[in-house]
Amino acid sequence: MTAIPRYDTLRLILGDQLNPRHSWYRSKQPNILYVIAELHQETYYVQHHIQKLCAFFLAMEQFAQGLRAAGHHVCYLTLDDTQQYSDLTELLAALCQRHQTTTLEYQQPDEYRLHQQLQTLTLPAPVSVQKVDSEHFYIPFDQLCTYFTPGKHQKMEFFYRKMRRQHSILMDGEQPLGNQWNFDHDNRKKLTPNDIAQLPEPLLFNCDTDAVLARINRHRIPYIGQPTTQLATPTNRKQAQLLLAFFCQYCLPFFGKFQDAMTCATQQSWSLYHSRLSFALNAKLISPQGVIQSAIAAYQDNSEISLAQVEGFVRQILGWREFVRGVYWANMPNYKALNTLSAHRKLPRFFWTGNTAMRCMSEAITQSLEYAYAHHIQRLMVTGNFCLLAGISPDEVDGWYLGIYQDAIEWVELPNTRGMSQFADGGLMATKPYAASGNYINKMSDYCRHCQYDVKQKTGPTACPLNSLYWHFLAQNKTQLQHNHRMSMAYRLWDKQGSEQRHAVLQRANWCLDNIESL
Ligand code: FAD
Ligand code: SF4
Repeated sequence: MTAIPRYDTLRLILGDQLNPRHSWYRSKQPNILYVIAELHQETYYVQHHIQKLCAFFLAMEQFAQGLRAAGHHVCYLTLDDTQQYSDLTELLAALCQRHQTTTLEYQQPDEYRLHQQLQTLTLPAPVSVQKVDSEHFYIPFDQLCTYFTPGKHQKMEFFYRKMRRQHSILMDGEQPLGNQWNFDHDNRKKLTPNDIAQLPEPLLFNCDTDAVLARINRHRIPYIGQPTTQLATPTNRKQAQLLLAFFCQYCLPFFGKFQDAMTCATQQSWSLYHSRLSFALNAKLISPQGVIQSAIAAYQDNSEISLAQVEGFVRQILGWREFVRGVYWANMPNYKALNTLSAHRKLPRFFWTGNTAMRCMSEAITQSLEYAYAHHIQRLMVTGNFCLLAGISPDEVDGWYLGIYQDAIEWVELPNTRGMSQFADGGLMATKPYAASGNYINKMSDYCRHCQYDVKQKTGPTACPLNSLYWHFLAQNKTQLQHNHRMSMAYRLWDKQGSEQRHAVLQRANWCLDNIESL
């Protein structure tokens, strides 16, 4: 019988803490055991897309192999190994006892749920518990409170400018490069058929999911979607760097210009010029600093990449990504229960099938089901906008977004969904609800041309449902929104419509809501 090795220290690595540059790994120490575990508790708190589950487990396994190859001691536990433990706490207690450990170390989790679990962890004496930073974000965890105040709205744009100055990114001394902080007005173009023909075919990653899938099925983990052997997301650092290089070469030259564009999906056109780096970033396979440096280096080397394109991309990562994390931590746990607009409707069944005659919705949902991916404007202005206008309960909306996307981890999903897209936080994230009629979708996509509904109509059986739902949303939430100066123009337009027209529009909206499952 082989003796069980003794380790003074156990270091826990969570599934989204696959940061190979963490200072933990600078030296190899025989008395430290790294623990990476496929946890049942992480597969059940929401129903995940199968491609998300596969991506996480494959990434964790490969990370463990990398650490082992670098000479570290690693314990990788599969779903089979962890099934006997009720949760992470019980598993850690058993491992500490098994290896006669005296110190358990963990990195600050990004999710409040895991933060609470580890913060309140008590292990039998003599084990002491210590926490370190995850060393991934621009803002270390213990400095977040100097940037964000609970319950207080703060403008992303000012936060972003502060970050640019602090980190000297795209700056010319104290001034922004090009004398402009933001190039949004040069961006946001619609794709012409010629632009669509030139889109680069998305880089996918072949992967062997057989063993992971067998485990998921053996343990009857419920999931959404279908498995694939070609993931839309990288699951190791090498693949992440390949995707970053692909993005810088083929997508960055048009990133900002077509950032808000949408088109009917083909094999070539479903991810447009977006990077699809969110999973790799959120799992920490690559760092935000490294991604930004690569994008800026590409801009400096390639005259086809304009400042507007690279600035648009930097803003997403240095601005939005750090910003939503700050909003999340400043406002949790209350944030998760906010429902300012009192929305209570159930999510229609077509969110799980894509079977709806609304072309914009069927495109965004079908693509999400197929790749566990949709780009930002599909999430915000198609599915998100529909839920906002239809008054779907933010809990239902959160559950769907948190499950379906491979990059969905609560710290980034929640402020984007409940805050930015559903305005359930009453304006902590956004200054006004991102509510739009079919007109916006028609402006930014070719969906309406292929839709059974008529985007120009507000009333009547073939009228685009979003048109009447938009005005219904305004009328329904008048008390809350009419004093928001960014909404005043919309209310003036509503009031200008004659009472007969208003009545007809609301009647059509009510019909749509009563028959939401058959839209
Ligand atoms: P790109 O368009 O290439 O952007 C580059 C990077 O910028 C992204 O990889 C991401 O890291 C970052 N980024 C861009 N926008 C945001 C944003 N609003 N918040 C945070 N980071 C941003 N992002 C997630 O990572 N996980 C989520 O669960 C998630 N849920 C969302 C839910 C809703 C309702 C909305 C509106 C947005 C959500 N986002 C989420 C933000 C954004 O949509 C995704 O980060 C982006 O679509 C990922 O695709 P990409 O890597 O191709 O992004
Ligand atoms: Fe969507 Fe309306 Fe356009 Fe159809 S007509 S694609 S429902 S916006």
